[in-house]
Amino acid sequence: MSGDASVSDLATAARLVRDARRIVVFSGAGVSAESGIDTFRTEGGFWQRYPPEEFGTPMGLAKLYAADPARLARFLEELVGPIACAAPNPGHQALAALERGIASRGGALTVITQNVDALHQEAGNSAVHEIHGSMFDIVDAEGRALRRLERPELARIADALARSQRGLFKRTRLARALLPLIGLPSAGTWTQPRHRPSVVMFGEALAEPAWQRAQAAARQADLVLVVGTSGLVYPAATIPELATDAGARLIEVGPERAFDGIWLPGKAGEVLPALVADPAPS
Ligand code: NAD
Repeated sequence: MSGDASVSDLATAARLVRDARRIVVFSGAGVSAESGIDTFRTEGGFWQRYPPEEFGTPMGLAKLYAADPARLARFLEELVGPIACAAPNPGHQALAALERGIASRGGALTVITQNVDALHQEAGNSAVHEIHGSMFDIVDAEGRALRRLERPELARIADALARSQRGLFKRTRLARALLPLIGLPSAGTWTQPRHRPSVVMFGEALAEPAWQRAQAAARQADLVLVVGTSGLVYPAATIPELATDAGARLIEVGPERAFDGIWLPGKAGEVLPALVADPAPS
């Protein structure tokens, strides 16, 4: 196992996991890092290359579309491409195994994720609240569900985005490449697309009913397992405290520490399998 998780911390954490009846997992970009999807805030991360003021809001995207479609296409390709190719890693798989284990003991595990990559569900977790939406759920201008994309379809969109900036008519070609994902009105404005992924952008409300359900699950948890998040995005980052305020214990997994509780430093794909496989002695 990488990092410095002490044997005693791991044993204590494993005992808490084994004894818990209602576990809430609160996950962020770090749990998917080993699946090849960049984190956002870490050194050299996505937001350093693509500042959120420019790339994280509909208005920012609208300006880029008008002024620099090639840069916008590169951003979207880098955002969508890795998600389209990703598969669950041992960290996701350990959480799915944990759900099966706790269910067999009459308990329940709920994943509250900030990620939009659907990898928890693909690994086998059944109760997943995607509080920042999903890259795969296409919604209309009012937020109503229209259809669900499959991963290969997303891969084709990423390829089309890459090809769109070769040759003339870059803006038109970008709009066409994006059409299965984002439906731009004829005026080309990004502020009110006809359809788009349900991904929550800066300044937008969290996804519903996921957010209400996530808060309810956090309040009922006896253990919150925080994995791969900087804890800097609000209001999502209130979830661990909501759980601990209601009496839950907290375990955090990741190279950096953001919350009070037991910290198991290291990569999710290495620490989580060890945590789940290490039944603490009674
Ligand atoms: P973040 O980028 O702010 O923080 C990532 C955290 O993960 C850091 O603390 C980092 O130390 C840790 N980390 C890096 N590698 C790790 C590993 N192998 N194992 C465990 N931890 C690791 O991410 P955030 O807190 O989730 O906030 C970013 C926002 O951007 C989220 O709201 C999310 O919606 C979105 N996002 C989603 C994805 C995705 O869907 N996979 C990817 C990037 C960003």
